Amino acid sequence: MATRVDVLTELKLMPTWRRRAVRDEAQDVASAEDRSRDLRLARVAALTWDAFAQDVDACVACGLCRSRNKSVPGVGDVAAQWMFVGEAPGGEEDARGEPFVGQAGRLLDNMLSALELARGRNVYIANVLKCRPPGNRTPEPLEVEACRPYLDRQIALIGPKLIVALGKSAATTLLNVDATISSLRGRVHRYRGVPLVVTYHPAYLLRNLPDKAKAWEDLLLARRVAMQSA
Ligand code: URA
Repeated sequence: MATRVDVLTELKLMPTWRRRAVRDEAQDVASAEDRSRDLRLARVAALTWDAFAQDVDACVACGLCRSRNKSVPGVGDVAAQWMFVGEAPGGEEDARGEPFVGQAGRLLDNMLSALELARGRNVYIANVLKCRPPGNRTPEPLEVEACRPYLDRQIALIGPKLIVALGKSAATTLLNVDATISSLRGRVHRYRGVPLVVTYHPAYLLRNLPDKAKAWEDLLLARRVAMQSA
């Protein structure tokens, strides 16, 4: 008796039938991926602080989960008026699970203290990426896309009066633009209605000391904005 395949072959439908099956399977996989991405986005957008760090720690949304030692969700006052956002954890942050604890972090602490602020007192510090890119390389667009819902959720939970974007990754991610730091400095932007000021990343300032004066101007602008919206 002729099998289904024999009949399809005789009718010259076999290759078409095969292609359809493969295409349908690919579509099924794509819709399952879409559904699981949508579920993840909805879950992250509803996270409470109690569940936040644990969720980040269990995250496998990009390849960085395979090389991280510790995830680095963020640190500070969850009712802070000031939020500082950097790029991604480096080696010391990856070892300790806290952002900005290396050399760049010591400079950030000095910048905070010049503003009469301190880590954890009316200040929250986070990064665009919650896991260290190997060798501290620049974050890849897919990593930023995968991690960004966590940063969006942190900002929504904190409700800061002002965001300071430290460096290009933070600025371009939060503002959804592709631009240089110099073109973004010196004016007040908005992230979902929250005033946002752009300045240099502390790691850049360590290598380019003369630009510290410009960073100070940015911080003074940030302080004026914070005082206006207090
Ligand atoms: N650089 C960053 O952008 N973030 C850190 O946490 C440390 C260094």
